[in-house]
Amino acid sequence: MVYLYNTLTLTKEKFKPLVRGQVRIYSCGPTVYDFPHIGNMRAYVFSDVLRRLFEYHNYKVIQVINITDVGHLLVEDGNISQDKIENSARIQRKTVKEIIDFYTKVFLRYLNLLQIKKPTYMPFASQHISEQIKIIQILEKKGYTYLTDEGVYFDTSKLKIYGSFGGIDLTKEGVSRLEKSSFKKNQFDFALWRFSKPQEKRQQEWQSPWGIGFPGWHTECLAMDKKYLGLPFDIHTGGVDHISVHHQNEIAQAESAFGVNPARYWMHSEFVVVNEEKMSKSLKNFLTLDDIIKKGFEPLSLRLLYLQAHYRQKINFTFEALKAAQNSLQNLYRFMKKLSFIGSFTKSKAEKQIDLGIKTAVSSYKNIFQKSIDDDLNTPKALAGLFDFITEIEKKLTAGLLNFNEAKLIKGTILKTDKVFGLFTKQETIYSLPVEIEKILSQREKLRFAGNYEKADKIRLKLLKQGWHIEDTKYGQFAYRS
Ligand code: AMP
Ligand code: ZN
Repeated sequence: MVYLYNTLTLTKEKFKPLVRGQVRIYSCGPTVYDFPHIGNMRAYVFSDVLRRLFEYHNYKVIQVINITDVGHLLVEDGNISQDKIENSARIQRKTVKEIIDFYTKVFLRYLNLLQIKKPTYMPFASQHISEQIKIIQILEKKGYTYLTDEGVYFDTSKLKIYGSFGGIDLTKEGVSRLEKSSFKKNQFDFALWRFSKPQEKRQQEWQSPWGIGFPGWHTECLAMDKKYLGLPFDIHTGGVDHISVHHQNEIAQAESAFGVNPARYWMHSEFVVVNEEKMSKSLKNFLTLDDIIKKGFEPLSLRLLYLQAHYRQKINFTFEALKAAQNSLQNLYRFMKKLSFIGSFTKSKAEKQIDLGIKTAVSSYKNIFQKSIDDDLNTPKALAGLFDFITEIEKKLTAGLLNFNEAKLIKGTILKTDKVFGLFTKQETIYSLPVEIEKILSQREKLRFAGNYEKADKIRLKLLKQGWHIEDTKYGQFAYRS
């Protein structure tokens, strides 16, 4: 039984799919005007783990992550300055298409590096203009809109429930994200369609029943989730900054146009912060995945760092914390490699018997894993369970007490739970040995067998200088790179 914290009801609820055996998830995607920072990527690590949780439970998951490539405006001190995409194209002297293509590719590369599964659909807002216009027309027909010199606005005073989403005091939290406009009737009203200003020379603009322009940011997700998932669907995700305005406004439009809240469950992941401040482009305190790779970090260390905190907790990013996560990840990989190594070494004289202590350790890890992830994705608790399990097994491993079948059972259990964590897929390639090292190890093995330990030690030191560590274990030589 999966329990999820629902921003809609502000409680942890038992998950019930709308269609049996199927989960439909919509995750608000990136605005592709610049490199996403590692804070942005946390939102997608979160939605990936959510998706993997349901796949682990054998649900068919249909997931959408949209690409925002129009209409997301920079709001600075309440003043709208620029469409982020058009602005970026102007600064970089590129076409809007070049900007969108380039940063979408960067996003896809980052997804891949973090082992975030590709969504079932990845639709672009600019390719769903007619769907957005249709929604605005329905809202207009039902009397929820008004026309100004700037565009078509949603009249929030017409909807009684407006502002009730997420238990937020809008007068405090929403206001900072609002744009000032002398044309607006109410403070929280928002643009559905904006007219192009001639002096702007926009590269992306479309004809509409109201005039040439482009859609406001808050209509695209409704147009795309309706098209690809159908209304209502199961889960809508995003970062916590989306609660007060972006998701508030999506719900307002869906309730007014279609009389339905788009999603049964709304889930929001917390921020990555730096010295207590949100990581963001505007504060210039951000890092990209490429930045941390350049500093010698494995992207999956970042994934582990994120999973070590609950998704509803802020993470204060430091390189020390990333380094610690990287060390833990390497220990995990080394441990798994050792298990495979034992497996191959003892295969010929495989003992069938699985020790009772191992059986108990395996089932208690399975238990803690399952309970934790089903409890609103408590990945830190599930990972703590994994590390405790490994510590216990490592004692037996060091003492040379594991047989082939036991090693296989432990490895299989960990890989099964890794379907949710998504940390191990690459470990086999990271730890496979080059042929020349294999050769040296087999020569060294012969020397050791002949009792020539002095020469064997020399080889070990030589390999160490090249970055290869050799451990002489009860199962034979175990080699890994530092
Ligand atoms: P954007 O490209 O600005 O639309 O943001 C993409 C996603 O990143 C959204 O779900 C945001 O809520 C999320 N986000 C933005 N800043 C942070 C941050 N510092 N930490 C975690 N998530 C963030
Ligand atoms: Zn959205």
